[in-house]
Amino acid sequence: KAKDEGRNNYQYYSSEMTESAFERVIMEQSLRVAIQQENFLVYYQPQIDSENKKVVGMEALVRWEHPDVGIVSPANFIPLAEETGMIIHIDLIVLKKAMTQFKEWYQQGLTPGKLSLNLSAKQIENNNFIEILSDTMQTLEFDPAWLTLEVTESQIMKNPEDSIEKLKEINALGIEIAIDDFGTGYSSLAYLKKLPLNKLKIDKAFVDGLPHDEEDIAISRAIIALAKILNLDLIAEGVETKEQQEFMLENGCKVIQGYYYSKPIDSNSMEKFLLAI
Ligand code: C2E
Ligand code: MG
Ligand code: MG
Ligand code: MG
Repeated sequence: KAKDEGRNNYQYYSSEMTESAFERVIMEQSLRVAIQQENFLVYYQPQIDSENKKVVGMEALVRWEHPDVGIVSPANFIPLAEETGMIIHIDLIVLKKAMTQFKEWYQQGLTPGKLSLNLSAKQIENNNFIEILSDTMQTLEFDPAWLTLEVTESQIMKNPEDSIEKLKEINALGIEIAIDDFGTGYSSLAYLKKLPLNKLKIDKAFVDGLPHDEEDIAISRAIIALAKILNLDLIAEGVETKEQQEFMLENGCKVIQGYYYSKPIDSNSMEKFLLAI
């Protein structure tokens, strides 16, 4: 990414993001307003046990509900939100909305499984986060066993010692920790051993080439073997075809998240889906 190569790289503002400095200021301003007004929707993508087709959980994925342009995908505003620190507020809005929704579904007798939330590195660094998290759980009477927090290797590696401490505290509350986009970041096995981990999410990048690409086959199998050794649960992300689902099941990864089963959908559609099963 041009962003990572520093701001001196003019591509960051021109071709890469087709965005002028002026447009950026405008966007930053409207994102601030969106945060004040909580103009975000939470979409849900189911995580399915491909052996028995049961919903084991779902990932909450934020969408910006923009008054003029409509639904905006995270790829178009998360980088700016990360850079400005606004991601902290966005993550907390998503957390509150999704936890409230899950509590409602559980009260209705539905079975959404575990709620999986994405956590930015900024949030891990936020010293208020753990208190906000436990307060929210208490207020909503939200069972910590319903929650998984997803972090990426690169987010952890920005400040590994601090991340390990924070994630241990979160884990001690009874909340599960998953590594998102596993295999795409840079983390050492030594850190993996130190982290209070419960789950690895195999990145879509390695699923894409399955079941034919030799390299993707080898990498997927290696990640599955690593999870077994470290006694971690697995999810394969970005599974789009029956062949990919079958590859995963045959190689020991039962839980699938991907378009093969469902795209991320809004809460009304998800509720209909849950009522139908
Ligand atoms: P992620 O956490 O790795 O989420 C998975 C992304 O892959 C989602 O994109 C999902 O729609 C997409 N996906 C899942 N299955 C398939 C598939 O079969 N094919 C294809 N082509 N794509 C698939 P989405 O919703 O656009 O989110 C992109 C990223 O934005 C997320 O990647 C996550 O890093 C970030 N994000 C989303 N919501 C939040 C949030 O509330 N907080 C934070 N901090 N980040 C978020
Ligand atoms: Mg994720
Ligand atoms: Mg991912
Ligand atoms: Mg990602």
